[in-house]
Amino acid sequence: MAWDFQTDPEFQVELDWIDRFVRTEVEPLDHVLGSPWNIHDPRFKQLVKPLQAQVKARKLWACHLGPELGGAGYGQVRLALINEILGRSLFGPIVFGCQAPDSGNGEILAHYGTPAQKQRYLQPLLDGDIVSCFAMTEPQGGADPAVFTTQAVRDGDDWVLSGEKWFASNARYAAFFIVMAVTDKTVSVYEGMSMFIVPAEAPGVHIIRNVGIADDPAATHAYLSFENVRVPASDMLGAPGQAFVVAQVRLGGGRVHHAMRVIGQAQKALDALCERSLSRSTQGSRLADKQMVQEKIADSWIELEQFRLLVMRTAWRIDHYQDYKRVRKDIAAVKAIMPKVLHDIAARALHVHGSLGVSEEMPFTGYIVRSFQMGLADGPTEVHKVTVAKQLLRDYQPCDELFPDYHRPTAAARAREKYADVLAGLSELEP
Ligand SMILES: Cc1cc2nc3c(=O)[nH]c(=O)nc-3n(C[C@H](O)[C@H](O)[C@H](O)COP(=O)(O)OP(=O)(O)OC[C@H]3O[C@@H](n4cnc5c(N)ncnc54)[C@H](O)[C@@H]3O)c2cc1C
Repeated sequence: MAWDFQTDPEFQVELDWIDRFVRTEVEPLDHVLGSPWNIHDPRFKQLVKPLQAQVKARKLWACHLGPELGGAGYGQVRLALINEILGRSLFGPIVFGCQAPDSGNGEILAHYGTPAQKQRYLQPLLDGDIVSCFAMTEPQGGADPAVFTTQAVRDGDDWVLSGEKWFASNARYAAFFIVMAVTDKTVSVYEGMSMFIVPAEAPGVHIIRNVGIADDPAATHAYLSFENVRVPASDMLGAPGQAFVVAQVRLGGGRVHHAMRVIGQAQKALDALCERSLSRSTQGSRLADKQMVQEKIADSWIELEQFRLLVMRTAWRIDHYQDYKRVRKDIAAVKAIMPKVLHDIAARALHVHGSLGVSEEMPFTGYIVRSFQMGLADGPTEVHKVTVAKQLLRDYQPCDELFPDYHRPTAAARAREKYADVLAGLSELEP
């Protein structure tokens, strides 16, 4: 009997410290600083660096990493509990050295980088001295890699990249990009794309423009162009044609880490919903006493707990199998449901806060926009639902009892036949 929903007391001490630290020191930064990835901002150096030093001293820095890379090697279940708290603040992940896309890019470099690449890119990334960018999506489409046209052509000891990328997060602050490009047009993109490290200062890399999210100019996603950008052959990550194999190293973990942080945001919205309901009175009673508000609170808690359990179970399965492929359905399910959970809870909290709810002093409009981002970044919800269904159908074992084969009696017909005598006796007794 191995089911267990408890946190061991020693780790709970760490979680309590993280919770206090994030609420008092980190959450306020969301209201005064711009992008968490703008590590070049002097205010970042003044306000964020000292907090990062405290996290390092507490040995909680980069907890997503194994001990060989300087992390605590906590595994995904413990990471989920930490990320729930970090998700409460935009600055939580960067203060703890586990922000996307750098965490995933670091994992790629750790798996596929040469010693020289690790020294040049991975170490400063792990130390928090640089940030990075992952460029896969193209202007003509992100959900369908078959339309990708950015290409890399071999020229002597180099590859020469040309093409455009779209919505590459934090490119303007990044020291390097990890870029996917077609290296063999004669096969499908899944066998013909390769992954490259491109330094931001490489000649031919241009930011055409930076795009903000909704009314938040701090969040920047770049429209990039690569104009005959020359990279040495050694800067290919993995073998030629392996881009999607390499990408899975970051996408599997990245998706579930987003979900862990979304729990924190949804919990913050639910906390606010409860607080508002208890503190606001109208028409003779507290909001908390009105059944339509109670329904909002109950639905929010139930949906959040369902989601949290799915995320925790997925984290447990990743730790257990150590193989993202075996947990693909679970990760896709978490990714697909995450936007709706965040959206619905944030929308209820916003509504119960009245006019204050739509104001920029509350996080709800931001959460609602973020719920849509979560439904797009790392692939649209529809694509992940298709993955869930395909995996379910692939593993489905036809069950003889229920199989709707009209040439054989169904389970219902067989049951009636089996108990025909009893049923006949009963009908004789009927008036
Ligand atoms: C906040 C944010 C950050 C991002 N950061 C990065 C980044 O750092 N690097 C990067 O490379 N990309 C990044 N992206 C891009 C992201 O990967 C793409 O937005 C995503 O893959 C969808 O591609 P698209 O935007 O071109 O939409 P499209 O591919 O045009 O899809 C639009 C819509 O069509 C529908 N659709 C698509 N496919 C299907 C289908 N098979 N079945 C049914 N409906 C479908 C869906 O409703 C989908 O939302 C980011 C996106 C966001 C929102």
